[in-house]
Amino acid sequence: MDDLRKGKIEVCPHYFRVDMPFYRKHIANFLPEKVVDIHVHAGTRKGVDPRVNPPEFWPKWVTFGHDMTVKSILDAYIKLLPGKDVSVVCFGSPDRDNVERANEHIKEQSQLYPQVSGFALTLPEWSAQELLTRMQEGGFVGMKSYSNMVKSGKKPEDITVLDIYPHHQLEIAQEYGWTVMLHVPRPGRLADPSNVDQLHEICEKYPDIKIVIAHVGRAYYPEIGRKGLDALKDLDTLYYDISANTCGPVFEYLLDTVDTARILYGSDLPIFAVRGKRIWEGENYINYIHKADWEDSHTRRCKEKEEQFTFMLYEEIFAFKKAAEKARLSRDDIENVFWKNARRLLDYSF
Ligand SMILES: [Zn+2]
Repeated sequence: MDDLRKGKIEVCPHYFRVDMPFYRKHIANFLPEKVVDIHVHAGTRKGVDPRVNPPEFWPKWVTFGHDMTVKSILDAYIKLLPGKDVSVVCFGSPDRDNVERANEHIKEQSQLYPQVSGFALTLPEWSAQELLTRMQEGGFVGMKSYSNMVKSGKKPEDITVLDIYPHHQLEIAQEYGWTVMLHVPRPGRLADPSNVDQLHEICEKYPDIKIVIAHVGRAYYPEIGRKGLDALKDLDTLYYDISANTCGPVFEYLLDTVDTARILYGSDLPIFAVRGKRIWEGENYINYIHKADWEDSHTRRCKEKEEQFTFMLYEEIFAFKKAAEKARLSRDDIENVFWKNARRLLDYSF
């Protein structure tokens, strides 16, 4: 992952020995020729020095907080999905002090590259007018915010969906029919009662907003996916992106309960370009990461097997493929998930 810590993907012997054979065997023929990735982080931050500022969460260990620029993302996709015609929806990494810089970068780059569009990182304290101006001036096709954007004095675990996207912003989003991507807050993730209640309230009050639940609601282990999807299955306007999720049973349950017209491919690059394998133990997920040089409750090594690990992005697509085969998805369904739904949702000509 030294390359990710410099904001790029580089080819290396492992790429030709492990990744490309996996790609050709499991991924290349499954994916359509065209792919739209609705969940990509891009920006210009040069990262942190872990000796000065030790990361508090594993994704930051993967990249040292070093962003990939839009150009690096497009370059990475040439290596990750060779031969595919890939378009991306980009937004910045979720830090309050990154909002201006990231939005500016995405705005600039989406004007240069026809296959790039952007979501704005938004702050909940922006007035309706400020939000509207920023969305229009940046040419953004959607909004993305996070619980750490909320400055309310509440404990992180108490922050709600409506703290992240307050009513006065949702009213504007409703008026313009925007796409709003939600990284669900709270320890209960997709199944958290407060999230479930507020999503019901939001869908009822703002039927023209297209809400995309990122990472299938961070349901990285089966039970939480089952509970959450059950509690939300009456909301037939919610979309789900599969980014950063590798949980086969969650994908199976998703395909059982949600129409494929509302499922979207996303990657969570650059994080998911790390090589590894994810398992779950009860209510925790564990990533076995190739050559991980840090320790935390989500990270382990498996030195005997890690030389066979490939990109976690491939693990995500492979897990979805297996669930799709079980659910007998048609080629049309696969095309919808991997690009056509995004094009329809964003009304954007990728
Ligand atoms: Zn993300």
